[in-house]
Amino acid sequence: MEGKKMISLKEFNTFGVQATTPLFNEVKTSLALQEVIKNKNYDNALIIGGGSNILLLEEFSRPVIKISIPGIRIINESDNMAVVSAGAGVVWHDLVMWCVTNNLGGIENLSLIPGLVGAAPIQNIGAYGVELSDVFFNVVAIHRKTGHSRIFEAEDCAFGYRDSVFKQELKDEYIITTVRLSLTKKNHVLNTSYGNIKESLDEMKVKNPTIDDIAKAVIRIRRSKLPDPKSLGNAGSFFKNPIVTQTETKHLLEQYPNMPYYSIDDTFGKIPAGWLIEQAGFKGAKNGNVGMHTNQALVLVNYGNATGASLWEYAKKVMASVKEKFGIELETEVNIIL
Ligand SMILES: Cc1cc2nc3c(=O)[nH]c(=O)nc-3n(C[C@H](O)[C@H](O)[C@H](O)COP(=O)(O)OP(=O)(O)OC[C@H]3O[C@@H](n4cnc5c(N)ncnc54)[C@H](O)[C@@H]3O)c2cc1C
Repeated sequence: MEGKKMISLKEFNTFGVQATTPLFNEVKTSLALQEVIKNKNYDNALIIGGGSNILLLEEFSRPVIKISIPGIRIINESDNMAVVSAGAGVVWHDLVMWCVTNNLGGIENLSLIPGLVGAAPIQNIGAYGVELSDVFFNVVAIHRKTGHSRIFEAEDCAFGYRDSVFKQELKDEYIITTVRLSLTKKNHVLNTSYGNIKESLDEMKVKNPTIDDIAKAVIRIRRSKLPDPKSLGNAGSFFKNPIVTQTETKHLLEQYPNMPYYSIDDTFGKIPAGWLIEQAGFKGAKNGNVGMHTNQALVLVNYGNATGASLWEYAKKVMASVKEKFGIELETEVNIIL
């Protein structure tokens, strides 16, 4: 795939928007990646995994490096724990299934999250009460300017809610090549308290769930709730759930007593962005080929041949309405790529 001219990226982003790149290189090893980044033409390349957390704007014209480094293996183990190492190009859900099949516990709640392993630490993926940081061991990453390889331990990554050092201070500085996770071999700690997992297990008539049952329950729930990007262009939750102070929340609750709210600590809490968007009148709303999903107000949707620019315009409209109604600034979870 090296060096082809004006390659369409439509198939490389789950929004399915049209954008082109003059230079596209798919790398299958760390060494190949180190060679490619020596080439000055790739200095400002976009690193792409599964393209499920990006919105490409039309004027995009950067080179692209697609990470396809394969491989999953256990690199260390004790009686209770195993460290699993996966190439950045492994499909995240394939890694989850590999772990479940090998009775390694910790990421079953993260079943069916789209995208590749290498992007998982970037926004510290999370779902159904579990985040990547809960099982994180370390990552190997290559510095884009020097080509040097570096190991990032958990304390180097500044993981937060859909956030890490790779989205902040070190944004676009490192390319992740390997992700290592610390997983349980026995006495798995099952997390069934979040979302509809318990109900789903009941429907499946499971009394004493295994990690395989949890994965199956999560897959069932996700399939029934989330639009499949193969049939409807989207990138999952477009916005983060805003974190607000308890004082702000108190004021809002006086005006909106039914507002859902989750306490984080004595000072902060989270308000579901989907609720704010719904209250602002955007749940299921549409403008041409663009809109917020009928069942999931947080999901921005490309209903047809929408452009990246029109999706972004619509998202900004939603943000402005929420700001006007609630005084809350929504932040995007999806990376807006120029
Ligand atoms: C239907 C749907 C549901 C989703 N549900 C969830 C969910 O429940 N929880 C959740 O957390 N996310 C969710 N997402 C978002 C998305 O799946 C995750 O953010 C995923 O980790 C993105 O992986 P990707 O390979 O597609 O990344 P991409 O979209 O290709 O890239 C995302 C960002 O990471 C950078 N990047 C990618 N790979 C590397 C690398 N190897 N090194 C350095 N930088 C890199 C890119 O440059 C870009 O800035 C959902 C998305 C969809 C479409």
